[in-house]
Amino acid sequence: MPPTIKDDIGLPPGELFIGGAWVAADGVREILDPATGAAVASVAQAGPAETQLALAAARRAFDDGSWSGLAPRERGRILLRAAEILRGQAEELARLESLDTGKPIMFTRMVDVATTIDQIDYYGALAAGIEGSVRRTGRPTFAYTRREPIGVVAAITPFNFPLILSSIKIAPALAAGNTVIHKPAEETPLTALRIAEVLHEAGVPDGVFNVLPGDGSVGETLVRDPRVDKIAFTGSTAVGRGIAAAAAETLKHVTVELGGKSANIMFADADLEAAINTAISGFVFNTGQFCMAGSRLLVQRPVYDEVVAALAGAIGHVPVGDPFDEGTVIGPMAGPRHLAKVRAFLDKAGQGGAKVYGGGPVHDGPGFWAAPTVLADVSQDSTFVQDEIFGPVLTVQPFDTEDEAVALANGTQYGLAAGLQTTDIARAHRVAERLRAGIVWVNGWALLDAALPFGGVNQSGYGREGGPEGLDEYLQTKSVLISVA
Ligand code: NAD
Repeated sequence: MPPTIKDDIGLPPGELFIGGAWVAADGVREILDPATGAAVASVAQAGPAETQLALAAARRAFDDGSWSGLAPRERGRILLRAAEILRGQAEELARLESLDTGKPIMFTRMVDVATTIDQIDYYGALAAGIEGSVRRTGRPTFAYTRREPIGVVAAITPFNFPLILSSIKIAPALAAGNTVIHKPAEETPLTALRIAEVLHEAGVPDGVFNVLPGDGSVGETLVRDPRVDKIAFTGSTAVGRGIAAAAAETLKHVTVELGGKSANIMFADADLEAAINTAISGFVFNTGQFCMAGSRLLVQRPVYDEVVAALAGAIGHVPVGDPFDEGTVIGPMAGPRHLAKVRAFLDKAGQGGAKVYGGGPVHDGPGFWAAPTVLADVSQDSTFVQDEIFGPVLTVQPFDTEDEAVALANGTQYGLAAGLQTTDIARAHRVAERLRAGIVWVNGWALLDAALPFGGVNQSGYGREGGPEGLDEYLQTKSVLISVA
């Protein structure tokens, strides 16, 4: 057989990274290629002994000051070096992420790897600006503040954007002087191990960065252990709630980036062709496994029928297929667990009078495939509108007035992202102000930048990642007062 693109992927060691060294474990998990279901790698799974080892290593590395005591710009330099090394490995990293998750190679290059490098660059540069300030007080003192790291950070990440969602935690945490234990999702640990190699090569001292592949019980141990000072979690709302409650026992700092059910409002005055393309990419991107997916489309009544017809006609033409084909837009779902959840929703898709478009079988063969599906005329209280499906499924609802659109958009427990498509600039500002979400896009979807914070309101969580706000989440302030009387 001729060599394929997959033969060029160098797999990282399938071991845990603890205290600057690769560590084997008794438990092993087979990592599956989502396109075929075949095992492509074996990765050691942390058990209680390895978790204790990592906790001790991260605590020791924080307390000895080898990292937290460095000048912030020196830490920044090491992060910038890591970004440079990753830039040199970008193509290989993109292939590894595609193999692990099933994401189309076009997007792992353009989005996952590019964003990851950008985030590490951004916080590498921002580190130099970590400084306190001199304060004028009402007493005879010389007073100033210091911005200090929090301590040991446990970064717990989900399966859907392994690289981006770990680097948006690891880069600011390290820039701020913390030490980190990263617990990647059980299904998609491969690029986390590669990041460990790169940070080590860039000069991050032993014990400052550790990776513990494993299941939720590893995360649970980290959340409860008093040696951990901060939890940075991205994942489901249900698990996030449990983490916030458990972390309260030891009063840890917590940020939780959780689920979403984001509304995209299409006004009749929008540039319809562009708005329909935005609506499609907003729900099929990453096969719908996207916390900020535009999974609810609200369309103003005069153009409702036209938009539904256009969506129904277009979704069958979005290229679904092998993630390693350059033209593929929709790959498989990341694993059987996620596919089963989407199928369970689609099995009841016709209930309640919804019109169902698309959703047929993609492949007869192996792998974890789901076709894009549009559900029109759904009611606001249906499970399809209220619950996160986390697959390529779009609900469409009509509205008449701006007030009605805002009420529908804000009418779920979530509040992660929202969007509006309109050519009326005054309306854009007016509606953006009223949408309860951490980020609002006007005439576009999923536009993100390392310089801008994102995060949720309501049951989508709290805390911000990205921008200077994302660095603040890993710092605490100390005041120093020197008596001059
Ligand atoms: P999940 O909550 O099942 O798992 C996330 C991580 O938590 C995994 O590493 C898992 O092993 C770990 N975990 C599980 N139980 C735990 C416990 N009791 N204590 C500590 N850790 C535990 O989420 P998932 O299915 O991997 O990811 C999908 C979810 O993530 C969706 O709800 C999606 O919206 C959300 N998400 C949110 C954002 C955001 O920025 N808000 C981004 C991406 C994904």
